[in-house]
Amino acid sequence: MNSDTTRHFQDQLQSELTAVRKALLEELKQSSQKFANELAKSLEQSSPSEWLDIAATQLNPQQYPNFQRLLKLEAALCQIDIGQFGYCCDCETQLNMAELKADPTIQRCNSCCQKRHTS
Ligand SMILES: [Zn+2]
Repeated sequence: MNSDTTRHFQDQLQSELTAVRKALLEELKQSSQKFANELAKSLEQSSPSEWLDIAATQLNPQQYPNFQRLLKLEAALCQIDIGQFGYCCDCETQLNMAELKADPTIQRCNSCCQKRHTS
């Protein structure tokens, strides 16, 4: 993947990340659960790079789609940093560009995806 394309995905991921952080924060603030309100407070006082460490100890991604999305976005951005973006993390095949455009956080090619879901 050339660097212009990678940069484009990086921008896209960054802007979604900003939106998802905001949405997660709102969700936690409005939650009826006290721990979530407290968590929102501590996240607000932390830098976004610390969010994952703080939230991961308290939030179950299954219950918080915004947090799950946050994890995926961070993972994709991390892959850009290490030059692995756009490749299946299991078999290292180059991922389909159309699918990446639809969702730049995908981590696996179709066949590895199916293998994971069936095994
Ligand atoms: Zn694969």
